Amino acid sequence: MLPMKVIGLLGGMSWESTQTYYRLLNEKVRRQLGGLHSARILLYSVDFAEIAELQKADEWDAAARILSDAARSVEQAGADCLLIGTNTMHKVAPQIAGSIDIPLLHIMDAVGDAILADGRDCVGLLGTRFTMEQAFCVEKLEAKGISVLVPPSDERDQVHAVIFDELCQGVFKESSRTSFLGTVDRLREWGAQGVILGCTEIGLLINDSDTDVALYDTTELHAQSAVDFALGPEKKTI
Ligand code: GLU
Repeated sequence: MLPMKVIGLLGGMSWESTQTYYRLLNEKVRRQLGGLHSARILLYSVDFAEIAELQKADEWDAAARILSDAARSVEQAGADCLLIGTNTMHKVAPQIAGSIDIPLLHIMDAVGDAILADGRDCVGLLGTRFTMEQAFCVEKLEAKGISVLVPPSDERDQVHAVIFDELCQGVFKESSRTSFLGTVDRLREWGAQGVILGCTEIGLLINDSDTDVALYDTTELHAQSAVDFALGPEKKTI
């Protein structure tokens, strides 16, 4: 058996979803290798309050510097690849990728490939306002030939507020679940063949058992891409 590669993970954004990443990476390795096998992971977990302040202040370069430093630490410690465990901070993925020599596994590559594998080419996107309104995720999907629909402005506000005021703080309300499912239905009415849970905490609120709309959970798909890499044929870089 080839040696399992080490997965580097930038977490803490928020740590509610980092727990999910940690569990999924280990479950997937165990499912594939069996027995006592578990994932080899180097986790650098940031203080999310600091990152969220920089997002609000539009200080993305400062946030990129913090995450690039963290990425270099993870690389120097022996990681063979890097995951940024949040959709939103993929806004600065190019800067982070440019500061390391190991591959950055982009969250939208994993998601786009899953959508195409299902034969779909038009999906809805839920996430932070940054993710829904700016180009950094949408353009990755469009480059693969996938069109992306986002909810109307008032619903984008609502989704964004629930992410920061509830999900990232470990609060899960029935009223928010109902409202997210309403937004999922609206996106389907508009023509979406599926909906991307484009924020790593949304899967903690809604999942496949809540709706018959196909959901693309970015945390799940991103974790799977990392396990595919870790157990795949490419040589270890270190
Ligand atoms: N985890 C969320 C995401 O996937 C939001 C937190 C953040 O702003 O990084 O976008």
